[in-house]
Amino acid sequence: MAKTEFKSESKRLLDLMINSIYTHKEIFLRELISNASDAIDKLYYISLTDNNVGLNKDDFKIRIDLDKEARTITITDNGIGMDADDLDSNLGTIANSGSLKFKQENDKADDVDIIGQFGVGFYSAFMVSDEITVRSKKYGSDKAYQWVSSGADGYEITETEKEDVGTQIVLKIKEDNENEKYSEFLEKYKISALVSKYSDYIRYPIIMEMEHRKLREDCDLDDPEYDEVKEDEVLNSMVPIWQRSKKDVTDEEYNEFYKQKFFDFEPPARVFANSVEGLVASFKSLLFIPSKVPFNYYTKEYKKGLQLYSSGVLIMDNCSDLVPEHFAFVKGVVDSQDLSLNISREMLQHDRQLKNIASTLEKKIKNELSSWLKNDREGYEKFYANFGKQLKYGLVGDYGAHQDVVKDIVLFYSSTEKKLVTLKEYVERMGEDQKEIYYATGDSIDAIDKLPQTEYFRDKGREILYCAEEIDEFAFQSMTSYNDKQFKNIVNEDVEEESKDEKKDDNKDDDTLKFIKDVLGDKVQEVIFSKKLKSHPVCLTAKGGVSFEMEKYMAIAQPEAMVKAQRVLEINAAHPAVNALIANITADKEKAEKYAKLLYSQALIIAGLTVEDPSEYADLVCSLMN
Ligand code: ADP
Repeated sequence: MAKTEFKSESKRLLDLMINSIYTHKEIFLRELISNASDAIDKLYYISLTDNNVGLNKDDFKIRIDLDKEARTITITDNGIGMDADDLDSNLGTIANSGSLKFKQENDKADDVDIIGQFGVGFYSAFMVSDEITVRSKKYGSDKAYQWVSSGADGYEITETEKEDVGTQIVLKIKEDNENEKYSEFLEKYKISALVSKYSDYIRYPIIMEMEHRKLREDCDLDDPEYDEVKEDEVLNSMVPIWQRSKKDVTDEEYNEFYKQKFFDFEPPARVFANSVEGLVASFKSLLFIPSKVPFNYYTKEYKKGLQLYSSGVLIMDNCSDLVPEHFAFVKGVVDSQDLSLNISREMLQHDRQLKNIASTLEKKIKNELSSWLKNDREGYEKFYANFGKQLKYGLVGDYGAHQDVVKDIVLFYSSTEKKLVTLKEYVERMGEDQKEIYYATGDSIDAIDKLPQTEYFRDKGREILYCAEEIDEFAFQSMTSYNDKQFKNIVNEDVEEESKDEKKDDNKDDDTLKFIKDVLGDKVQEVIFSKKLKSHPVCLTAKGGVSFEMEKYMAIAQPEAMVKAQRVLEINAAHPAVNALIANITADKEKAEKYAKLLYSQALIIAGLTVEDPSEYADLVCSLMN
């Protein structure tokens, strides 16, 4: 039979493997054992409802055999197995190409690091082998198949004889050369150490025949005699890391587990383990918060969820019902003995125990984040830069149903503190005379700081929350208040309670306003004298419920809805530019019209909106300069 070539991307990964540096090579064993364990998980799951499997929990095992003469390592499992199609599609292409994707998107990242940090799977075996033979019989099939490859030049699949269901992988270990020694992988002590290092928690026994000296039973103890005996030994402790007590697990072990399980490049920013004895459900959880935003986070491709185990048996790889949307960044494992094992995945959604676990987890995560915020502000702010936006979704999603969960762990930039603050901190600083929580929306902290509207409040010493994210405005509108203090967007027109200016209502003023309104027509809803402008001549505020930030957001999110904020042009009667306009209404009407248009365009620019007719604006400026 002709050789089949590897698919092109697999070929590239294969090249990486074959040429990788030595120190990372040892992870091949961890990868193969983890595949074997996954395959056993699958068959064990079937065996719970299907008597034909004929295996009990204790029958499942992974075996490692070494043959120094033949230079082979053989890894045997009695898992689900593969048929010819599986062999072709699973081992001919990269099943989990997370690492390759990462590589494509981070081209500068070092190849070597990727191999060391990621689960690179089956292919890693080529780092230590000249030739790999996979012999497998799939559960439910009466034929067995063999897949053989010596790397770059492709693979061959043929029918073979194999009695038991499962997979056997034979690695032909490379010869040592000047720079690299492979022979140590044929030593039992080495393999046993690697299993302890990387695969200790695997839930099925990993067995290898070990030799040791055994005291001969009826010998004279003053002159002891020993026999060399060979006995199968279990190399791993089989206790999953989340079942171990926190004090017995090192940070290193948690990090290693996280990176391997969740394909991350960096250790997590936060690790928290919980053991919950509940009335409805008891469970153990081990949760992680990544230190970087996953590359596909904030896209539809990202799937939130936790791995769900029932008494150590994996039932779902990514159970999304376990974490709410606002904590979608949390990764981890949940193991409960109270979940029914043969429950279908559809039914699981409505399971009472599962719902109970999810709501307990939500509280645990909230508490963890609160104490992080309290005890390590700097660390929390780093986390917040990554996932703060996600938390804020909790303020708006589900009609605000989760506001109580997140309202004390979200942060906003403060105009007076010049850093991120909590709502609680803001309210604590509010003076007796301040009734509302002020916020201002805009494109960036810098742009907001320069808005004419913020000047007035700043001069009065008021603290303003600067909101540069689209979601902020929705968040405040949906919360309406915090600790009985209403939120007020000071960029909007209706914030005047603080001003005690006398009313300007003589006829001359009315004429001025009418003149400007006539010039601008439908572009503005209203023209008023401002009570808050100081150094700026004009500003634009929004009347009614829709703000400019919402208008900008909707223009992108739902352009067909044509959502527009109602524009109010506020003018500063004390400003020389406005005085010039007023003087010209009688002296030079044409000039006054130009001034009105100019000031309106300026107000648009400051508000971060686009000038409707930029070339008209430019012409106006030029004509006045002449
Ligand atoms: P990953 O394990 O990340 O999916 P691998 O390259 O390690 O990627 O393996 C590819 C696929 O080959 C696995 O997803 C699995 O379907 C199959 N496979 C690998 N090893 C075994 C095994 N021992 N028994 C059954 N299937 C296996």
